[in-house]
This record gives sequence, structure tokens and C-alpha cells, in this order.
Amino acid sequence: MAPQTEFIEFINPATGQKFGEVRMATEADVLRARREMAAAQPAWAAKPVKERARLVKKLQSVMLEAVDEITAVVNQDHGKSRLDALHEVFMTVEKIHHYTAHAPQWLARERVPRGLYFFKRFYADREPYGVVGIIGPWNYPIDLMLPPIVSALLAGNAVMVKPSEVSAATGVLLESLINRVPELAPFVRFLHGDARVGQALVRSQPDLLFLTGSVKTGQIVAKMAVENMTPFMYELGGKDAMLVLEDADVASAAKWGVWGAFYTTGQACVSVERVYVHEKVYDEFVAAVLEETAKFSVGFSSDVDNPNWMGPLTFERQCDIVNTHLADAVAKGARILMGGKQTGMFIEPTVLVDVDHTMKIMMDETFGPTMPIMKVQDDTQAIQLANHSTMGLSAYVWSRDLKHAERVGRQLDVGVVNINDTVAHYSVARLPFGGTKLSGNTRTHGRGEVTQFTHQKAYSISAPPNPLDPVIWIRRPGNYNLLKMMMGATYGTTLRQRMAPLGEFLGSDPRMGHAAGRALAGAGALSALVALAVMLLRVRRH
Ligand code: NAD
Repeated sequence: MAPQTEFIEFINPATGQKFGEVRMATEADVLRARREMAAAQPAWAAKPVKERARLVKKLQSVMLEAVDEITAVVNQDHGKSRLDALHEVFMTVEKIHHYTAHAPQWLARERVPRGLYFFKRFYADREPYGVVGIIGPWNYPIDLMLPPIVSALLAGNAVMVKPSEVSAATGVLLESLINRVPELAPFVRFLHGDARVGQALVRSQPDLLFLTGSVKTGQIVAKMAVENMTPFMYELGGKDAMLVLEDADVASAAKWGVWGAFYTTGQACVSVERVYVHEKVYDEFVAAVLEETAKFSVGFSSDVDNPNWMGPLTFERQCDIVNTHLADAVAKGARILMGGKQTGMFIEPTVLVDVDHTMKIMMDETFGPTMPIMKVQDDTQAIQLANHSTMGLSAYVWSRDLKHAERVGRQLDVGVVNINDTVAHYSVARLPFGGTKLSGNTRTHGRGEVTQFTHQKAYSISAPPNPLDPVIWIRRPGNYNLLKMMMGATYGTTLRQRMAPLGEFLGSDPRMGHAAGRALAGAGALSALVALAVMLLRVRRH
């Protein structure tokens, strides 16, 4: 674990200039945060949801006041343009707006039908886990950090946050934004630092862990979490496929496919990472992609009116991955039609063809400005290749026939299908977002993002068992046929299933043999019939 004196430097990737630093948290800091957040959390959870929402909403106002400050820091820290940073702020503000407006309803008590317990009532409340640990990435350092923090808070949790060391300046800014709402600050603790701080956070055993990061980190954290049975939610890598079907609008597919591949320098989990194009439109598509890519200007500026579409990669490791994938592809027979050169931290938007699934660039997440394009014979082959991946975040399908596109989309093993566009589904604040396979085990955005930070606590409430409840009768031994009759009457799917057990019950009850027993059974049968009518009316409805 880091000694007290270790610092993380803030480096502008475009210029290489250092613009600040932050002290790394120590193991002792992490453990203290864990204790203090556990002690603080009950007071926050005790506030009604509406009150929590009112206080969280103040963060929305703080962000709107600080827009230019935020985009300036993200621009320096990450290298993305001020406009792209503003996209992030917009998405985050939009989520805070929706989540604070709807949390009271999303977190409301859920009433549960009584079933055959006519004299009991049931409901489930949403309870916070307690202290949630949130570990995040650098690529969307605002929008992948604040919405889960806000959601965990709305749900009544206290939060320990470990921002990425790669976007540490933005992590410090986030801490400052939270501190500008004094009512929230006591319930959120930032722990700055690298993977070692992340490890210490996991070791501190939060009540719930939420990680957004790479598959590799997800696997390491999962192993650690399971040792303590810490509930663990993860949003991990993507290898999103784009399918251009034979009836696609090729010009649009090329234009927005290029944008989806190179937007934020390809450093988005939902970037277009591989493209499968029907052979009938392949040549036209590749030509259009080259034309669009040529227009995709590259550069860095700290002005709000940056003319460039794409900036630098954010740190050296990303350049290494891109270059390794390109070299591997070329060694195995791929041809680079455009781009491929690195200058400083800038890599040109790169278009490749003659690629196949033996190549890293088609199988592993590249997370850089590459667009490998593969020709396919038909939809079946496109679907089979798109699904041939360990990841399943999003997929893009292009066709003029929306029904055709939807048919193909339904066969893709991913969390989100975006038809005739790329990347943009991520910005829809309430459209469930997440992946299948190694890409993730949870859904963010909208209701699910808030409710995932709760567990349900259920209540069953009544006076002592009432003998008029039909399900109380069948606790006594000897009531096999009665229960069978009740089940048939209530859940039978045919008239015979509903009525036959009633006949069996009336005919086989040994009490029918004795006069007193007959009276008793008669009364029992009568109430059973009454109950049956009520059951049919009430229980089957639910
Ligand atoms: P990363 O896995 O390297 O790091 C993510 C976070 O985990 C960082 O804060 C890091 O310090 C921490 N960490 C790293 N090793 C750790 C360990 N052993 N124990 C505890 N914490 C550890 O990922 P990254 O490079 O920051 O982010 C890029 C990755 O995130 C890509 O794979 C991308 O696809 C993925 N991502 C996924 C989504 C999504 O919603 N599915 C969104 C954005 C990014």
C-alpha cells in the first residue's frame, strides 16, 4: 500500500505538461473512511427519499454553475475537447435531473397481493446496503462516476469513491463539486490513488462494490469480493460490433460508423470496435468510410471552440494497446487503408480491411481510433461473427428496413442494440444500459441504476393467524385433498383442473362418513366454496 508521501501527477496527454498532483490515500485512510462512512450513513438513510432527492438536486445546480470549470479540467486531464467534455456534463446533469425527480417513486414501498392470506398484508421496502464502494475509469470521468454516486446516495447509502489515477485531476474536481453541497459532503469520501487504493477499498469490505473498468480488473476484484461475499456489480469492457446489412443507407452508416469508431479517440466502452459489411455494399461502404475518415481532423485545443473531431489518446498504455493490435493484424494479413501513424500521444484514425477473428483487433478491446472492416456473405454470418466475442455491450445495425434491422438485433447477444446510429444510445438517461457476458452483470441508467443500490426488505403483517384464512386450514395434518382442491380451484388452467379436485375433496373426505363429521365437512365445504369464489376473483387476478 502506498506510503503517506506518494503523489499522483496530473499530466495533460496532448502537451505532456504537469498541471497538478494529489496525495494518494493510504490503507489507513481507506479504513478510516470505511469506519466514518459506516457511522455517518444511518443519519442519511433516516432522511425521507424526497429530502435526499432535494439535497442531491443541489449538485445539479452546482454543476451547471461550474460547467466551464469542469470542461476545462476534463480537457486538460483526458485530452478530449471541451465540447466532448460538455457532452459528458450534459449527460450527467440530465441523469441527476431524472433520478432526483423519479427516485421517490422508484424507491417507493411495493405492496404485494395477499394471495390466500386474506387477513395479512405484505409489502417490501427498498433498503440501502450501507456503505457502497465505487471504483471508476478515466474515459468518462464525470459521467461514469457521478451518476452511480448520486444513485447510491438517493438509495440511502454512504459512498467511498476511488476515481481513476489516469484522470486524477477530474477525481479531485468531483470531490470539490460534492463538497460544494455541504449536506452531501459528510456521506461521500474520495480516496485518490491507483490500483493499490482500489485494492485497499475492496479489502475494507464495503457493503456493496460497484466497478466500472476493464474485464481484467473486474476479474481480480471479483475474486477478492467473493472471499468476503461482498456483493459486486460491474460494468466492464466492450467489443461493439457494427453490422451493415445489404439494404443499409451506406452513406449514413459510413459517416456515423466513423464517428462511432473515433469519437473521443475510440476511448468509449461503446465505440464501434469492429464492422461487418454485406458483400453487396462492401466496396461502396469502404470507399465512403475512407472519405469520412479523411475529414476527421485531429488535434488538441483548450478553447471551447476546438475545430477538431478527435484528440490524443489519454495515456501511454492505450497507445501501446493500439499499436500492438495494429501490428498483430498486419502480421496476420490485414491491410491498413488509412492512418496508423503515431505522433506524440496522437494516433491517426485508422481504417483496416482483410481482418479476421484470429486477430487481436477483432477479439480484444482496442479502445483506440481503429475501424477494422470485414466482408460477410449474409445476415447469418454477420450475426454469428458479431456474437463470436467474450463481450456483449452494444451492437449497431444498419438497414433501411427497420423490421429487418430489429430481426437481426434480436439475435445479437448484447445489452443494447442501436439501429441506424452509433454510440448515442449511451446518452439516453433512462434507457437501461449494460452488457452481457464479460461486459457486465448490471444495468445502469434510469430506474435500475438507482434501485440496484438497494436490497428489498419485506414485511408480512397481521394479528395472530386468523382461522378464516384458507391457508391456515391446511396447516393441520390430514388436509391433503383440501389443499389440492384449493390449488386446482385457484390455478387450474382448464375447467377440469379447477373442478376435479373439488369432487375428490368432497368424495374422499373420511369425515363425510359420520353425521357430525358430515355437518363439519359440509360447513368446511361451504366455506371452501365461498373461499374458492373469493380466490377465483382475487388471487387469479394477480
Ligand atoms: P481499469 O480496469 O484499468 O481501471 C478501472 C478502475 O479500477 C481504476 O480506478 C483503477 O485504478 C482501478 N483498479 C485497477 N486495478 C485494480 C485492482 N486490481 N483492484 C482494485 N481496483 C483496481 O479500467 P480503465 O482503463 O480505467 O477503464 C477502461 C475500461 O473500462 C475499458 O475496458 C472500458 O470498456 C471499460 N468501461 C466500461 C464501461 C461500461 O459501462 N461497461 C464504461 C466505461 C469504461
